[in-house]
Amino acid sequence: MAKIYYKQDADLTHLQGKTVAIIGYGSQGHAHAQNLRDSGVKVIIGLRPGKSWDQAEQDGFDVFTVDEAAKRAQVIQILLPDELQKQVYEEQIKDHLNEGDALFFAHGFNIHFEQIIPPSNVDVVLAAPKGPGHLVRRVFVEGFGVPALIAVQQDATGKAKDLALAYAQGIGATRAGVLETTFKEETETDLFGEQAVLCGGVSELVKNGFQTLLEAGYQPEIAYFECMHELKLIVDLMYEKGLTGMRDSISNTAEYGDYVSGPRVIGDASRQAMKDVLTDIQNGTFAKKFIAENEQGRPWFAEKRKQEQSQELEQVGAKLREMMVWVESK
Ligand code: NDP
Ligand code: MG
Ligand code: MG
Repeated sequence: MAKIYYKQDADLTHLQGKTVAIIGYGSQGHAHAQNLRDSGVKVIIGLRPGKSWDQAEQDGFDVFTVDEAAKRAQVIQILLPDELQKQVYEEQIKDHLNEGDALFFAHGFNIHFEQIIPPSNVDVVLAAPKGPGHLVRRVFVEGFGVPALIAVQQDATGKAKDLALAYAQGIGATRAGVLETTFKEETETDLFGEQAVLCGGVSELVKNGFQTLLEAGYQPEIAYFECMHELKLIVDLMYEKGLTGMRDSISNTAEYGDYVSGPRVIGDASRQAMKDVLTDIQNGTFAKKFIAENEQGRPWFAEKRKQEQSQELEQVGAKLREMMVWVESK
């Protein structure tokens, strides 16, 4: 079993006297910055002029260029989109790293796949909440926390893990539990989870279920409710009570059908595909493709996004959600 750290295992004083620069003020950035500030940590923000800059100022932060923020801080958390981190690091962060500084990440991609290679005299640390940024902030304000992973890739000061735990404390994660991992494990499992299950797997499951009903002549609105809308209710039950609890809540008919048909839909072929996806992640094939796609200006990515946005499932769903006043779309 993984060791889980809680409040009593962490000590915020490891961040005392230090300035934390949060680079980026998007989903993760705004949440880390505001939670740390509420925990009494000195936080500044590093950005380029634009929407996020204005928002961070409105929220009362001192905002600087990335260069200037990196210069002023001893702890630098890079919360930019993964595909931009290498360039921003090379051009605006690298030269401002002093001996004993700490470089933080919320995802291990750029360190694990050696896009960023920090000097050996700084700590390299991961502090990655296991949830979207808006939840990281909301749950903190409610007095709780979103669990997080920490990892130390490079311990130049001998204090990197203490610092990681202090940071996790500051963003509220030790209220929920903090697991120690490695950059390799976090990167590979995060990519696998989002590709095979959470994003890729679930989206395809929904799309194919919807399409199967449509092709058989059923009404799109009915297909939408069965294959997409109700997913949330099932996932909420799984989240709160596990598979067993979910199955307690559904009918015996549904539970029997679950056992009989689930393995027919996700069977040997899907298991083999999952293994292949994992192999591509582990041997760097996926990373290489993603990096190349970004270098070419993302032609395939942009086209794919357009196609996915215009499919019938999305059109039907948008109309139905408009009528469902209880569904908040924030
Ligand atoms: P977002 O896309 O939400 O935010 C990116 C931020 O970076 C924006 O504030 C943007 O500002 C700023 N930015 C973009 N380009 C530059 C630039 N060239 N110079 C300065 N600032 C720039 O990112 P996320 O929060 O989603 O992701 C950040 C990290 O967190 C990633 O490593 C990701 O893998 C990780 N992560 C994300 C999770 C999530 O829930 N989203 C969950 C766990 C980890 P502007 O308004 O100017 O574009
Ligand atoms: Mg991810
Ligand atoms: Mg039903």
